[in-house]
Amino acid sequence: MAAASGAVRTSRFRALKTARPGAEAGPVVYWMFRDQRVRDNWALIHAVDQANRANVPVAVAFNLFDQFLGARARQLGFMLRGLKQLQRDIEETLNIPFFLFQGDAGETIPNFLEECGATLLVTDFTPLRQIRKCKELISSKVSDRVTIHEMDAHNVVPVWVASDKLEYSAKTFRGKINKLLPEYLIDFPTLELPNRRWDGSCQPIDWDDLIAHAISKGAEVPEVHWCIPGETAALEVLKGKENGFLTKRLKNYSTERNNPLKTHALSGLSPYLHFGQISAQRCALEAKRVRQLHPQAVDTFLEEMIVRRELADNYCFYQLHYDSLKGAWEWAKKSLLEHASDRREHVYTREQLEKAQTADPLWNASQLEMVHHGKMHGYMRMYWAKKILEWTKGPEEALEICIYLNDKYEIDGRDPSGYVGCMWSICGVHDQGWKERPVFGKIRYMNYAGCRRKFDVDGYISYVKRLVGDAKKRKRAEALLDERPQKQSCC
Ligand SMILES: Cc1cc2nc3c(=O)[nH]c(=O)nc-3n(C[C@H](O)[C@H](O)[C@H](O)COP(=O)(O)OP(=O)(O)OC[C@H]3O[C@@H](n4cnc5c(N)ncnc54)[C@H](O)[C@@H]3O)c2cc1C
Repeated sequence: MAAASGAVRTSRFRALKTARPGAEAGPVVYWMFRDQRVRDNWALIHAVDQANRANVPVAVAFNLFDQFLGARARQLGFMLRGLKQLQRDIEETLNIPFFLFQGDAGETIPNFLEECGATLLVTDFTPLRQIRKCKELISSKVSDRVTIHEMDAHNVVPVWVASDKLEYSAKTFRGKINKLLPEYLIDFPTLELPNRRWDGSCQPIDWDDLIAHAISKGAEVPEVHWCIPGETAALEVLKGKENGFLTKRLKNYSTERNNPLKTHALSGLSPYLHFGQISAQRCALEAKRVRQLHPQAVDTFLEEMIVRRELADNYCFYQLHYDSLKGAWEWAKKSLLEHASDRREHVYTREQLEKAQTADPLWNASQLEMVHHGKMHGYMRMYWAKKILEWTKGPEEALEICIYLNDKYEIDGRDPSGYVGCMWSICGVHDQGWKERPVFGKIRYMNYAGCRRKFDVDGYISYVKRLVGDAKKRKRAEALLDERPQKQSCC
């Protein structure tokens, strides 16, 4: 059993930096990045707990990068609208100030710590390279009075506890993580109110202006309207009375989740999980509560949401080349390179793929589902990525295009599960070798005929046509609304 330091067991966080002994305690700052929520957030629980123990105030800081992995209106709008609600909740219900900075967190966070005299920085965990580098920079910049705790508030089992090495497959990982669940899949403690008030106040944040700016700057990929941002909406998707996943849609998860026409069979939680607007641990706890009703569905859901999702974090944490051919297993790299110059029936450019201009109507439909709806069905994501391998000049280019499109259009993109999804499809990561064939080598193959056997391909194509039509109609209506006041002011 792991030791507890206050409200949180010590294995859930690691010290990235320890202050020199004897330094006087100053305020605690939680630099929130990946876990953008008030409820069920181990990093926030720890920050408040440590502040109360030292009888010092606590604040939350968020840094808005000028650009992060190419996020556009779709992703930024969702995030900022969620943060707007979060700021209100955290200030009104907990009396914790929320500071928003813009620019490079490698500068803004150390500056803020210096300004307010903080001596403990709590931050949440992500395996993404850019943020790891940023944390290294912050650690090197802050004074020797500052301790930094990195908390894995995203995974049910902290990534460094689940395994101390790069796991080969779900098979090697599953046993390890399942063994640890009784210890880590536990109820959250109540979040305490801070004992001390923050001295001074924070700058008011003009959220509407920020959102309008992000939306116009990233207009190439507009927001989607079916996915309501924020913690309350996330809980509604999980267990709402009307159409919650666990309350209304769970029954068919294990049997229908691979049918792209049955979109409601899926949880729809990935945007919320990606932005940390809901805790995976909360989803798992709630799912376990209804296991008696639908045991197979719950077990399948937990396999996806814990084993597969946390395996993706394991991969990105231990494999720094998580988005390049260099990160493939040796057998796969060798096989892909041996077949790199095989003749392809079609070779498309990135632009042709982006515009869904291929000879395959099924593939085009999946691309359009992603571009206009913002979330491609999980089954189609595999087919979509594998076809990119088949239709581009070689595996490196295929992977680059796949990640580029995924991150640009998916509302849940720029996520370890996305990098691993692309690496699994194109580079065989976490998969095994299959019968050798042209272009794919030993990488698992998928084709149109296989899809036809599995689901109603024409039905899916028609469904996407309707989605695209609706999206275009909405866009036209919005454009008309935008024009109206301008015309009026001309008169
Ligand atoms: C090429 C490709 C690209 C992908 N890109 C992304 C991405 O950018 N972001 C993303 O979150 N997921 C990605 N996935 C994984 C998966 O397709 C999505 O998580 C899933 O479709 C999200 O929809 P859902 O939440 O309704 O799924 P559900 O089936 O309801 O799953 C519940 C949760 O389990 C997790 N999960 C499900 N399938 C997987 C998987 N294969 N690997 C890891 N975790 C999984 C997700 O957190 C998901 O939200 C990708 C998969 C592939 C093959």
